[in-house]
Amino acid sequence: ATMPPLLSAIALAGRHGVLVKSAVVMERLADVDVVAFDKTGTLTDGTPRVAAVHPAPGHTVEELLRLAAATERRSEHPVAAAVVAEARARGLDVPEPTEFTSTPGRGVRALVDGRTVAVGSPALMDSPPAAATEAEAAGHTALVVLVDDEPAGVLVLTDRIRSATAGAVTALRQLTGTTPVLLTGDNAGAAGHLAAQAGISEVHAGLLPEDKVERVRALQSRAGRVLLAGDGVNDAPAMATADLGVAMGRRGSDLALETADAVLVRDDLAALPAVIALARRARRLVQ
Ligand code: ADP
Ligand code: MG
Repeated sequence: ATMPPLLSAIALAGRHGVLVKSAVVMERLADVDVVAFDKTGTLTDGTPRVAAVHPAPGHTVEELLRLAAATERRSEHPVAAAVVAEARARGLDVPEPTEFTSTPGRGVRALVDGRTVAVGSPALMDSPPAAATEAEAAGHTALVVLVDDEPAGVLVLTDRIRSATAGAVTALRQLTGTTPVLLTGDNAGAAGHLAAQAGISEVHAGLLPEDKVERVRALQSRAGRVLLAGDGVNDAPAMATADLGVAMGRRGSDLALETADAVLVRDDLAALPAVIALARRARRLVQ
């Protein structure tokens, strides 16, 4: 017996490493008008590393890293893993924090050795330290560290573009007739740097999770059906708002994998245009 076109398309998508969760999703993939991407963990490989540490006067590199790493221990964000890895690589002990709180798209806060430590986006400060502003202008992600509400230093992180990103962006533009859009919580400098390498011209940076939802809505009214690809860290609400949500399988949070319409099982962005093309062929066969 021959399988109906939508079902064989789902089977084929599986071979490309894309888990398409239903025939309805397969049909909708044929109608995508514009693709929006999250940055960290989606267009980048999501394993940033600490490139520089700038302690404020009165602090040392080791102390700053140790306090920041302890505060980040409980966070699932890729930047948190980078900070903890750097502290461990330097042989520092990373104490267990207490009273840990995390604010999506902003940063984390905890009590470490009786001191209140906050690590997060420089955008939260009225006048961020020069080291942060300079790192952002150079295309990096900067994190400010506050100890007992006083600036204690800046951590500079770099993340690499995925090798498949630029090719996927080109293929998606050719398929949909519209250049993909970047939606990120990271700073404008880092976002612009990555977008230039990816071939993306429309960039919205500094977005909180709820801002990403708003941007998806704006894109829907301007361009039509929106597919949002993300890692589910701070972008799950936006994925739910998009006509189609696609999660990165390796980097994606459990919640993202569960709620997404499709999953890029091997985190291979090249599979995204491939599956849209597949969906269109399947629809031609159905009609
Ligand atoms: P993206 O859209 O690139 O995935 P997010 O929305 O996840 O970015 O995060 C946006 C920004 O919020 C980060 O660049 C960082 O400045 C800050 N942030 C988020 N989580 C953390 C964390 N665990 N520690 C420090 N900063 C964080
Ligand atoms: Mg993210």
